[in-house]
Amino acid sequence: MTAATEIAFENTFVRDLDGLYLPWQAAPAPDARLVLLNESLAGELGLDPAQLRTPEGVALLTGTTVPDSATTVAQAYAGHQFGNYSPRLGDGRALLVGELVTPDGARRDLHLKGSGRTPFARGGDGRAPLGPMLREYVISEAMHALGVPSTRSLAVVATGEPVLRDRGPEPGAVLARTAASHLRVGTFQFAAATGEVDVLRRLAEYAIARHHPQASSPLELYRAVIAVQAELVARWMQIGFVHGVMNTDNMTISGETIDYGPCAFLDAHDPATWYSSIDSGGRYAYGNQPGIAQWNLARLGESLLGLFADSQEEAVRLATEELAGFADAYLAARDRGYLAKIGVGTPELLADLFAVIEDQKPDHTLFFRRLSEAARGDAGPVRALLSDPAALDPWLESWRAAGPDADAMDRVNPVYVPRNHLVEEALGAAVEGDLEPVQWLLQVLADPFTEREGYERYAQPAGPDSPPFTTFC
Ligand code: AMP
Ligand code: MG
Ligand code: MG
Repeated sequence: MTAATEIAFENTFVRDLDGLYLPWQAAPAPDARLVLLNESLAGELGLDPAQLRTPEGVALLTGTTVPDSATTVAQAYAGHQFGNYSPRLGDGRALLVGELVTPDGARRDLHLKGSGRTPFARGGDGRAPLGPMLREYVISEAMHALGVPSTRSLAVVATGEPVLRDRGPEPGAVLARTAASHLRVGTFQFAAATGEVDVLRRLAEYAIARHHPQASSPLELYRAVIAVQAELVARWMQIGFVHGVMNTDNMTISGETIDYGPCAFLDAHDPATWYSSIDSGGRYAYGNQPGIAQWNLARLGESLLGLFADSQEEAVRLATEELAGFADAYLAARDRGYLAKIGVGTPELLADLFAVIEDQKPDHTLFFRRLSEAARGDAGPVRALLSDPAALDPWLESWRAAGPDADAMDRVNPVYVPRNHLVEEALGAAVEGDLEPVQWLLQVLADPFTEREGYERYAQPAGPDSPPFTTFC
């Protein structure tokens, strides 16, 4: 085993994108203690879990002592937060350590969240409480197991220092996460706002090389990002995921889901659902997500205008034409995904299905999982989720006539998703020092499509008497 201090990082972001970061060091973690380590992810990265458990490994995971090959930086970005533009956001409490090249040849950022204040911190203390870092770990790993492109979580380390939040002092923690990169729409907004076309051009070239190598121009880069984001948001919609804070600084160029602050999963299939305490108008409600993605992509197009054409008029024309492709791409991905969920290839069946579930708002996850029982001949369980089951019957009849493949449905409709009440219960115990519920939840969510005996409670929504759920970040 090589020492953690010998881990080889590359630094292409730092090498190529001067002007888009500030070198910075993590704050000390006086009594660092490894809380969770993702051994299988460590393996995929070509790291030895035992190496990460040593004091040097834990020091790397908090950023306090990093290998010579690493250069810790706070990345700069701008962004529209709830529709309002902030010219200077950036990593206020996070650091990029460097890039790991995996045994498969993939380049993955190692990034630390909760590593202390940086020059980009505006109000905050630069710290992160243990509960929210565990929350990101649990939900991002669940998303990965559900087959949704996502940043991954490598470790959570408690720092030994309390952080003060509204609800009182909480244990502080650092989340070590990996990502295809941390390039965001907001990175392009920041680069465009420097007014230096060379900075913007280098960023576009870097993004093409790293994520969309088939693109041969900035316009094709834009097209590629539109395509991956249309796919991504369609995947979110199909599992009932509500991101909660779809600001332009939280939308990646790679097409991975990023920044699991106030996100949550639907119980009832209600497009108007949102959970975040800071989303007062429901801007980022479940049903708004495709439209918001398109709005964010319009901001990306605006940032890239200077690279699209010499004349502003022509650049705007080209950007508008590309963006018009989003709706088609999203609807195609939506229909493809929903046809897989209902196990047939007949798009004519979708409109009537959407009408019934949007009207009656059954539990999203249970509804689609129980449909496969209906495909096998027993419509009772799915009908039991509806207040007016008879309204579904004509649809069930046409759908059965189309010959649904129940086994294929079970491979795409999860039994287990990180339901809000389960996540909250597990985090509550973890913050009190009992990690067992989090470990159980992680184990269940790692294999979401296989129904197991003894795990019934993990498949159930919160009871009717449970209080309305709100997320804080
Ligand atoms: P987020 O809502 O996590 O996407 O963060 C938006 C911006 O606020 C980013 O610049 C964060 O780094 C910054 N931020 C969030 N929480 C804190 C904190 N506790 N201390 C400093 N900056 C923070
Ligand atoms: Mg963010
Ligand atoms: Mg964040």
